[in-house]
Amino acid sequence: MPDSTKIAAEIASQLSVHSPSPVQPLVTHWQGAEQVRLYIKRDDLIHPVISGNKWRKLKYALVEARQKGVTEIISFGGGYSNHLHALGYCCNKLGIQFMALVRGNYRATPTPMLKDLADWQAQIVYLDKATYQLRSQTDFIAKWQAAHPHALIIPEGGSQTQALAGVAELLNEQTQHFSHIVLPVGSGGTLAGLIAAASTNAADTRLIGIAVLKGQDYLEQQVSALLPQHSFDNWLIDHDFHFGGYAKRNQGLLAFCSTFYQQTQVPIEPVYSGKAAWALKQRLADGYFPPGSQILLLHTGGLQGARTQ
Ligand SMILES: *Cc1c(COP(=O)(O)O)cnc(C)c1O
Repeated sequence: MPDSTKIAAEIASQLSVHSPSPVQPLVTHWQGAEQVRLYIKRDDLIHPVISGNKWRKLKYALVEARQKGVTEIISFGGGYSNHLHALGYCCNKLGIQFMALVRGNYRATPTPMLKDLADWQAQIVYLDKATYQLRSQTDFIAKWQAAHPHALIIPEGGSQTQALAGVAELLNEQTQHFSHIVLPVGSGGTLAGLIAAASTNAADTRLIGIAVLKGQDYLEQQVSALLPQHSFDNWLIDHDFHFGGYAKRNQGLLAFCSTFYQQTQVPIEPVYSGKAAWALKQRLADGYFPPGSQILLLHTGGLQGARTQ
């Protein structure tokens, strides 16, 4: 079987993925920032459609698809899912049929992401919320697999064990020496990949996930389930900054996102990167980070999700 690194490079070039992404100093006027060094990893620059962390999580699934000659991929997500959007785009470019199993019925009012998926020749199937609940159950997956025997089925958010290797590569891109990495957490795959990768690095990097939805305990379980047997103690999830739930926001958060852009020239959005940056600012003000900390904010992308059209 051809070498997966070579295939990954071929796919990246076909999709015009820009990697490695830059690490830039993050210059802010935040209280407490003078005590530490702040940087931002610009995974938002990897690709305009393929949200930074989605590329990392999907990379080896796409390699597997190429190695096995897969002609159809099936995956799950909500109507605003960056994962479905990114994967639908990849499949269209790579000549793979894509089936999106979507939570809820948007037939009458498709979201901008679902309209794009339709333009990219994806097949969209709407599942009622009760059915969608079954998305990770073995019987349910087996049923879809039986109906589509040659399809590759990828779980919600692309968060599967295979995704960890793609995420782990992030730590080899000038980011080994950070004492803390702060990142948003949705389904937990990105955090899990970084936990596993950082556990073997010399800097003892701590991973601080910022929950973007109400998911105390649930998110910790999701992350642990993706990790290999032994437990790691280099991480935590901060649940104080979800603003009431997934995609929930207030005027304060929206104003923060635009001020952040004015001050840093880095665009952020209120669903993921805005909540993570807000949390970082707040925890700096709280004196949470020891003086001298080298802190990396991971910009996971997702800017296409901020569109209203
Ligand atoms: C999907 C997504 C996340 C969440 O990543 P998980 O691995 O699911 O935790 C974070 N940021 C952006 C921009 C995303 O699109």
